[in-house]
Amino acid sequence: MDNSMYKKLGISDSVLGFCECVLGELSERFKKIDETAEYNQLKVISAMQKNRVNAACFAATTGYGYDDVGRDNLEKVYADVFGTQAALVRPQITCGTHALAVALSANLRPGDTLLSPVGKPYDTLEEVIGIRPSRCSLREFGVAYKQVDLLPDGGFDLDGIRAALDDTVKMVTIQRSKGYQTRPTLSVERIGELISFIKSIKPDVICMVDNCYGEFVQTTEPSNVGADMIVGSLIKNPGGGLAPIGGYICGTKECVENCAYRLSAPGLGQEVGANLGIMPAFYQGLFMAPTVVSGALKGAVFAGLCYEKLGFKCVPNGTEDRFDIIQAVELGSKERMVAFCRGIQAAAPVDSYVTPEPWPMPGYDSDVIMAAGAFVQGSSIELSADGPIKEPYAVYFQGGLTWYHAKLGIMMSLQKLFEQKLITL
Ligand SMILES: *Cc1c(COP(=O)(O)O)cnc(C)c1O
Repeated sequence: MDNSMYKKLGISDSVLGFCECVLGELSERFKKIDETAEYNQLKVISAMQKNRVNAACFAATTGYGYDDVGRDNLEKVYADVFGTQAALVRPQITCGTHALAVALSANLRPGDTLLSPVGKPYDTLEEVIGIRPSRCSLREFGVAYKQVDLLPDGGFDLDGIRAALDDTVKMVTIQRSKGYQTRPTLSVERIGELISFIKSIKPDVICMVDNCYGEFVQTTEPSNVGADMIVGSLIKNPGGGLAPIGGYICGTKECVENCAYRLSAPGLGQEVGANLGIMPAFYQGLFMAPTVVSGALKGAVFAGLCYEKLGFKCVPNGTEDRFDIIQAVELGSKERMVAFCRGIQAAAPVDSYVTPEPWPMPGYDSDVIMAAGAFVQGSSIELSADGPIKEPYAVYFQGGLTWYHAKLGIMMSLQKLFEQKLITL
């Protein structure tokens, strides 16, 4: 292939040669990723056809947003894609953390306990729950929290979970993705096993899955294996890079209705919430999402294999199956984290000339470095890398609206590390 554009963009022969070798090993993996994308593309088209998506769905509404056909129909499409009774998909849900906060606070009451059977949840949820004292946390409203950690081998602590499931436990939160941790991401199959176990002990407990970064990575979703609610962000996988804001909650009618009353107001629920003209991006983004996720997955697999070959611990490693789009690379030093992120930034179509620096980001308990040159600010289905500046100095690499962009980003990260003699090729 003609590498002249890579050279023009600053990729050296050493990096090009190394990457060509790595890519040679990936054709089988890429084929599987394409097959999953194909299945999920058909799943989305089928849901859109069933719900007779048409031009009227793309019209803007303003004010209260009563009788918003586009919004109501999009929620039916989401419910069908994820196999649930109901869905809440709104630009008024500002981000993933907000969607999760709504799902939790709508379905828990004072005196209830929330249990995480898979260890510590995502950093920003610590303040939602009140693990770190925080104003307006669930804890301030009398909701208790319990946690059972994963076993050292990554397995579920079934005895610990059984013991924790007392009368007060109303809801269980299961995080699919590793988040800012280096534990393995849970497959849909393992989530299904965990939910079955929990419901065999306490059938009425509500099982919520934080589905962030997991959507369309497999051909099934946690809602197909017993989850009562799945929750995520539209500026991650299901927005397909086109949604400029938003979150979703899909689940049982009961749970989703509670969420709607919490999001708007008791008595109003799902009836209000104008779409402000955002529907084309939500529909088209969902349509694109399976393909966009496949590009991001190829980037993650490629990054994992590259950095593993250079001797860094990667989670997942270069060969194991993937259940989210995140690749964690333990770089072992702040300097390498900064160089990696500067490479990702330099490969971006937007803001390629800016230099990422670590900063104390709200919601996180240490400095965080972030690289993102995104069309939608903060979107992490677009090529991005970030990580807290603390042991084990891991960067979390994700996204890429196209595989080719993800590939360039990884090559540029290698180039920056190589130039500063932080790796040898
Ligand atoms: C991103 C993420 C969140 C929070 O989403 P924001 O949109 O950043 O608020 C929660 N949980 C997990 C696992 C995530 O990856």
